[in-house]
Amino acid sequence: MDAIGKEDVLRIVRDQDRWRGTECLNMIASENVMSPLATKAYVSDFMHRYAEGSPFKRFYQGARNIDELESSAIELAKQVFGATKADLRPISGGVANAAAFSGLTSHGDLLLSPGVAGGSHISHEPFGVAGVLGLRVEHAAFDEQEYNIDVDESISKIRRLKPNLVTLGGSVILFPHPVREFSSACAEVGAKLLYDGAHVLGLIAGKQFQDPFREGADIMTASTHKTFPGPQGGIILGNTEDEAWKKVKFRIFPGLVSNHHLHRIPAMLIALLEAQRFGADYARQTVKNARALGEALEELGFKVLASDKGYTKSHQILVDVRENGGGKYVAGALEEANIILNKNILAWDDVNNPDDPSGLRIGTQELTRMGMKESEMKHVAELMRRVVMDKADRVAVREEVIGFRRDFQQVHYCFGE
Ligand SMILES: *Cc1c(COP(=O)(O)O)cnc(C)c1O
Repeated sequence: MDAIGKEDVLRIVRDQDRWRGTECLNMIASENVMSPLATKAYVSDFMHRYAEGSPFKRFYQGARNIDELESSAIELAKQVFGATKADLRPISGGVANAAAFSGLTSHGDLLLSPGVAGGSHISHEPFGVAGVLGLRVEHAAFDEQEYNIDVDESISKIRRLKPNLVTLGGSVILFPHPVREFSSACAEVGAKLLYDGAHVLGLIAGKQFQDPFREGADIMTASTHKTFPGPQGGIILGNTEDEAWKKVKFRIFPGLVSNHHLHRIPAMLIALLEAQRFGADYARQTVKNARALGEALEELGFKVLASDKGYTKSHQILVDVRENGGGKYVAGALEEANIILNKNILAWDDVNNPDDPSGLRIGTQELTRMGMKESEMKHVAELMRRVVMDKADRVAVREEVIGFRRDFQQVHYCFGE
């Protein structure tokens, strides 16, 4: 390969903008697009600066503008998510989990999480953040029929194992998790309850999924760029007594974050203001679209999970594609037609062998932001059938996808520029 030149860098960036930005059906459940106004607020001098510490208590000079923006973002985040505490400094959801887990536990403590097969993120596992922190990990029980946490089994596990920290929420999450039920069991054994809202933060902001704090969670961690359409980053929200919150904050800074990537903060403020104004409509349509896509795919012969329960109450649906060649083959074939989604482990798969899992995970949040509704979901399902079932020419389907996408180029549910 020839050495890369400066023209090549910009050419590839422009290709990305054209390809993924304007010509694909983007359905990776952890992605989204910022609004034009949030993007405008994102690129600024703030991306060159430092402001260690908290608003108005910094270790660097020159921070008066970030003080004003960050303190406002903290207040607005508390309002939008119904929390009493908020910290926007974690630079990703994984860092948010690292800070929260370490603030709430000590080395050798026991964490009970759903586990990757039950939808958890890798950060809740021994091979992820939890293991890095020296936590022991046990898994809650999962009910494959309901495609949700098995409440009774899990609660007896909490009583028996007496974990120090219990987590709910996940990367694969079709239905609200049993926060209320877990919360009483956690209180009995003195465990803290953490809700990882990375995937569903935008649905929570729009009050269309579940309300972890009203249901009894102590802490919520999240990414700010999945269903919540902010800049890539993390957030920790709290509803807990000051001692625990203080420990978590100390793990964020000076523990894990020095520079908190200040240019995220004004973009987050715009995204929060937009969530206040448009977030309910966006979240409602996202869930409707997910259910419509599930129904349309099933009608065309795909094996969509949880069909007896309306497929989903979140932005995600899961499809078992073992009969269609497996997750790896199907996701790869669809990519050639500009239909971008990911292969995913389903509850019965071996988590140690994630390369060719049974399933696809599909998210409708970004298509929804681009203005698509239920009738477009039917068309998306048909395009998928052409590739996966009919084995149509992928280049021909790609041309159709590009044509279909042409009418959906504007971000909706946001302020004008
Ligand atoms: C994506 C995700 C994370 C990690 O977030 P990043 O921002 O990618 O670091 C943590 N928890 C859950 C449940 C996730 O889905």
